[in-house]
Amino acid sequence: MGATKNRGRGKSSDRASVPIVKRKLIQALRQVLRYYCPERKAAIEKYKVKVPLTKKDGTPSKRYTNAWPCSACGELFSKVEWDHIEEVGKEPSWPPIASEWGIYIERMFCSQDNYQPLCKICHNKKTKESR
Ligand SMILES: [Zn+2]
Repeated sequence: MGATKNRGRGKSSDRASVPIVKRKLIQALRQVLRYYCPERKAAIEKYKVKVPLTKKDGTPSKRYTNAWPCSACGELFSKVEWDHIEEVGKEPSWPPIASEWGIYIERMFCSQDNYQPLCKICHNKKTKESR
């Protein structure tokens, strides 16, 4: 990895060729998934662990913070990424093909059992291995 590390998914030249309408639609779907999907919210609740906080002097406080265990490395994190165990797969084509968009949406809005919390490192690893 050098100074030219790529931050996005795919090369920037690929991104530029993706029609803006498709890009915005996928962004909107991801937003809806993130903020409104009850199945995803249920998974977040299911995995949530309450971790007691400690006071400055090291004694236990009555307050708690939320954490989630990474399903790959097992460590607890205050921030995790929600992975689709069975992957959503590649983005559908543009101009749109109904069957491809149907499958994409169906896989994206999966049941709560298909979600697992992963830390950023483990999620990146999984994403790389699946490509
Ligand atoms: Zn991990």
